[in-house]
Parts: sequence; C-alpha cells; structure tokens
Amino acid sequence: MANDPAERIVDQALARTADQLAAAHSQHPDNPRRCAAGCHSAWPCMSHRFAERARHAARGDWRDAWTARHDLASAGIPVAG
Ligand SMILES: [Zn+2]
Repeated sequence: MANDPAERIVDQALARTADQLAAAHSQHPDNPRRCAAGCHSAWPCMSHRFAERARHAARGDWRDAWTARHDLASAGIPVAG
C-alpha cells in the first residue's frame, strides 16, 4: 500500500541493506537460539538487531536513518547505494 504512512521509506538504500541483512541473519530453522548465517552469538545476533533497527529507521525520521547508517558503517556493514 503506497499510501500507508508506515511504509513510507525515507532511505531506500538503507531499507534495501536492512532487508538483505535481515534475510541473511534470520533465525535458524532447527535451533531458535542460533542465527542461520552462522554467527557465533546467540539469537538475535548483532547483525539481525542492526537490520531491525535500520529497517525501522529507513521508514522513520531521516535523522534516525542517518544515525542507523552511521552505526552500520561503524559495525563494518556497508549501506548499498
Ligand atoms: Zn547473524
């Protein structure tokens, strides 16, 4: 729904990066306490939490998106242009 304010994406690149990150770092189907990407941390792993936050930020205030981009970059995760 294009007119749904909840789906208003202010940062397309950030939203795309978040979706890719969330897709890679999903919950392991056989072990709910693990990440399917093979992270060595307990679920939800840091990458997944970054993805969730970036997803939210990409649909919110542009200042949130800016902060989320900065945090992703700090974690070594490039935001696709
Ligand atoms: Zn992970």
